[in-house]
Amino acid sequence: MDLDLAPRYVEFRDECRAWLEANRPAPLRSMDTPEGFEEHRAWERVLFDAGWSVPAWPAAYGGRDCDLIEWLIYEEEYWRSGVPGRVSANGVSLLAPTIFNFGTSAQQDFFLPRMASGEHIWAQGWSEPDAGSDLAGIKTRAERDGDHYVLNGQKTWCSRGAFADWIFCIVRTDPEAERHAGLTYLLVPGDAPGLERRPIGRLDGEPGFAELFFDDCRVGVGNVLGEEGQGWAVAMAAAGSERGLNLRSPGRFMAAAERLADLARDLQEGGDRIDVRLREEVTDAWIRAQAYRWQTYLTAARLMDGAELGSEASLMKVFWSEMDLELHATALRLLGDRGELPSEWMDGYLFALSGPIYAGTNEIQRNIIAERVLGLPRR
Ligand SMILES: Cc1cc2nc3c(=O)[nH]c(=O)nc-3n(C[C@H](O)[C@H](O)[C@H](O)COP(=O)(O)OP(=O)(O)OC[C@H]3O[C@@H](n4cnc5c(N)ncnc54)[C@H](O)[C@@H]3O)c2cc1C
Repeated sequence: MDLDLAPRYVEFRDECRAWLEANRPAPLRSMDTPEGFEEHRAWERVLFDAGWSVPAWPAAYGGRDCDLIEWLIYEEEYWRSGVPGRVSANGVSLLAPTIFNFGTSAQQDFFLPRMASGEHIWAQGWSEPDAGSDLAGIKTRAERDGDHYVLNGQKTWCSRGAFADWIFCIVRTDPEAERHAGLTYLLVPGDAPGLERRPIGRLDGEPGFAELFFDDCRVGVGNVLGEEGQGWAVAMAAAGSERGLNLRSPGRFMAAAERLADLARDLQEGGDRIDVRLREEVTDAWIRAQAYRWQTYLTAARLMDGAELGSEASLMKVFWSEMDLELHATALRLLGDRGELPSEWMDGYLFALSGPIYAGTNEIQRNIIAERVLGLPRR
C-alpha cells in the first residue's frame, strides 16, 4: 500500500503551507468575547479574500472545488500553522452541508457566500433545558401567522450564541403530530424582534456561550430549511456531519499531539525526569492521532467513491473526543504542579472535557454503535 501523497496533493499542501505561513496574524483575543469575536470575523474575511475560507465548496460560493483529500490536507496545514481557530465553524461545518442538501437556490445564493466571508457567523440553537440527548423532545413552539412564524420558548448551551448573526434552530410547528414529525428547521436572524440572548456564566468569565429566549419572536416563513414538518430529517443530516468528518478533522489532533511531544522533549531537556508511563502516554497520544488521521483518510476515500457516512460516524466521535481528553490530561500530568496554572494546556483540557458531551454525548453514540453498527438488541 502506498501511503504517500500523490504529487498534485503535495503541490496543494505546499501552496496552503506557504500561504498560511505568510499570512499568520498576531494572536487574537478569545472568540467568546465581543472584541475577539470581531477579530475572528476579520480573519475569516482574510481567508475568504484569498480563497482559503471554504476550500471544499464550489468556486461559485467562494470555494476552490477541493476534493475531500485536499480538504483534509488543508485542515492539517491549518492546525499545524497555529493560525486562529474558526469562529465560522458552526456555520461552515454544520449548517452549510444542510443548506447544500436542503436549501432552495435562493437560500443557497443568499446564505452561502455570506457564511464563507464571515459576514454571517452562525450558532446552533438545538438544545433546550429539557431536551439535549432527547432532541425530539424540544418544546420551542413556532406558530404560523401569515407569512411569519411566532416563536416562544428557550434554547440553551448555544456556542457563539451571544454574538452570532444568525442561529439555526429546530422548532415545534405541530404539537399534535408524532414528536419527530412536528419539527421544523428554521434559520433565525440574531436581531429578530422578541429574541433575547443571555450569556451563561462560565469559569473563565467569557460571555459567548448563551441561552436564547423567544418571546413572540417573529421569523419569516422563507427561513424554513427544507419543508415545514421535515425538521428531524434535515437536522439528522447535519448531526452526521457534526459527528463524522466535518467538525473535528484529524489536523487538530495531530497538531496537539506534536505539541505534546514537544512539551515532553522541552521538559526533559529542562531537567524534568519523565517516567516510562508518561513517555508511553505521549507516544500513545501521537499514535492515536495518526490512527484517527488514517481512518479519516479511508472514510474520505470511500465517500469520494460514492459511499455515504452512516452510523459509523458515531465511532469517530467517541474516538476523537476521548483521544483529545486523554492527550490534554497527559500534558497536565507532564507539567505536574505547574499544570494547575493557567496555560494553553489547561484551557485545552477544560474544553476537551466537553468533547464527550457536545455533538451528541458519548453515551448516546455508544447506544448508536451498539444498535446500528453492531446490530445488538435495544435491551
Ligand atoms: C461545550 C458545549 C457546547 C455546546 N454547544 C451547543 C450548541 O452550540 N448548540 C446546541 O444546541 N447545543 C450545544 N451543546 C449542548 C449539547 O448538545 C448537550 O449538552 C448534549 O446534547 C447533552 O444534552 P443535555 O446537556 O441536555 O444532557 P442530557 O441529555 O440530560 O444527558 C444527561 C446525561 O444522561 C445521559 N443520557 C441521556 N440519555 C441517555 C440514553 N438514552 N442512554 C444513555 N445515556 C443517556 C447523557 O449521555 C448524559 O451523560 C453544547 C454542549 C457543550 C458542553
